[in-house]
Amino acid sequence: PSLTLHAKTILITGASSGIGRATALEFARSSPQSLNLVLTARRVDRLNALAAQIRQECGTGVRICVRGLDVSRASEVEALVGGLEEEGFGGVDVLVNNAGFMSGVEQPPHIPRDVIRDVWATNVTGVINMTQAVLPIFKKREDGGRGDVIMLGSIAGREAYVGGSLYCASKAAIRAFTDALRKELIATRIRVMTVDPGQVLTEFTYLRYRGDQEKADAVYAGCEPLTPEDVAEVIVFAASRRENVVVADTLLFPSHQA
Ligand code: NDP
Repeated sequence: PSLTLHAKTILITGASSGIGRATALEFARSSPQSLNLVLTARRVDRLNALAAQIRQECGTGVRICVRGLDVSRASEVEALVGGLEEEGFGGVDVLVNNAGFMSGVEQPPHIPRDVIRDVWATNVTGVINMTQAVLPIFKKREDGGRGDVIMLGSIAGREAYVGGSLYCASKAAIRAFTDALRKELIATRIRVMTVDPGQVLTEFTYLRYRGDQEKADAVYAGCEPLTPEDVAEVIVFAASRRENVVVADTLLFPSHQA
């Protein structure tokens, strides 16, 4: 990566697992001399374990702030962002909108109401909540406003598949949100970027089937999915380009996936 990460502040949602966790490690390893990381998710014990691992590997050059956060709760998002300045993490440079999940019951007419509500609240409202909270920080910078918003979209936002109606709709919604936001911010120094992976081996699929190992394993049968590290490398690459370069829209597949 280039020098542009030096001393930057990176805020990651869903950093307790999978792609978010790998992204935190990749940022830290890319700029161990000087980086600020704000690690958020609901499972704070996992964030603390990740923070300890980063401190052990990278030493004191990486400053870390761990915060419990449910992105679907606008009040929690506002409190988090409002409190960052006091803690010395106020000038967020990069937001990684990573928190998201899928449910195993997505075929109408059988989708439970709470599942509809929860998937939408995290995957759509959560991303919008975070983006709205961080944009004013970017805009009030003395140097005229700059920053990066990086979305974790999915191939599911471009191409719907059987059994994924709700999740695909949520990712398509965020793809539209991202597209509009990029156009709204064109000619500013705020970059809006999306990384859309195909299959990645994380807890995502296991959560989707609520621990039904057989069903989850079947998703990956006969193929080699991406690792969370594969996706993290692309996210850090995007964030570390020089200012004039926008890695706007990236589709990332394992080689077997059509
Ligand atoms: P994981 O299940 O491993 O991680 C999901 C993360 O999101 C966890 O850290 C979880 O933390 C967090 N999270 C979930 N809901 C909330 C919430 N309401 N508020 C805050 N944090 C939340 O999955 P992945 O790493 O695979 O998924 C990361 C992103 O990548 C998601 O947006 C997903 O849609 C996308 N993606 C994944 C693919 C895959 O095949 N795995 C493919 C394409 C895209 P906690 O429970 O502690 O809050």
